Amino acid sequence: MKLLFKNASILMEDWSVLKDAFLGIDGDTICYIGQDRPQEDYDSEKDMSGKLLMPGIYNMHAHSPMSILRGIGSGLPLDKWLFDAIFPVEARMVPEDISVATRINLMEMIASGTVSFTDMYDQTWVTLDEVDKAGIKANLCRPIQCFDPNEKYEDNFRSKESIKLYHDINAMNNSRIKADFSIHAEYTNHPHIVAAYAEECNKLGGRVHLHLS
Ligand SMILES: [Zn+2]
Repeated sequence: MKLLFKNASILMEDWSVLKDAFLGIDGDTICYIGQDRPQEDYDSEKDMSGKLLMPGIYNMHAHSPMSILRGIGSGLPLDKWLFDAIFPVEARMVPEDISVATRINLMEMIASGTVSFTDMYDQTWVTLDEVDKAGIKANLCRPIQCFDPNEKYEDNFRSKESIKLYHDINAMNNSRIKADFSIHAEYTNHPHIVAAYAEECNKLGGRVHLHLS
């Protein structure tokens, strides 16, 4: 299937914009870019007058299921927003909430040109299922947290889920979806939990997604 975009403004690698241009696609490959009409035939043409063709956007940090929490605790400082407004609501979110909220976010991202995103959230298997169905690319992780300084690493269920998710995603062998490890943040963890988790992640050799400060 060969498709020709015409009358397009095309954002180039050097950030210049090629005006009134043609862009040809053959299957999943860009086969032509130029201001002269290509010689070969195309199966269909699409008029791009007034539109910009550009590379896909990569969203490097998201919490997709939070799309339905927008506005909650608005204006509060971070610690009050997170601990007093957001965490109590998140604790009541069921898989159906995660599913709907993720779908809302996926539709927004896809509609605005995002081709890949990196997501950090719990109940990650629900998000994984939605991403699998949507066709977008994603890096997914289940972040670890620890609020009890006496908690043993062996008892930290979030770490167990995080490592399990890593293995489950790798076992899917889906080239669109990658697994990351995740430490939610320094202020939502204790050093001995992070150290033990990091040791395990190092052995497995994956990437780590975290809030740095
Ligand atoms: Zn964040």
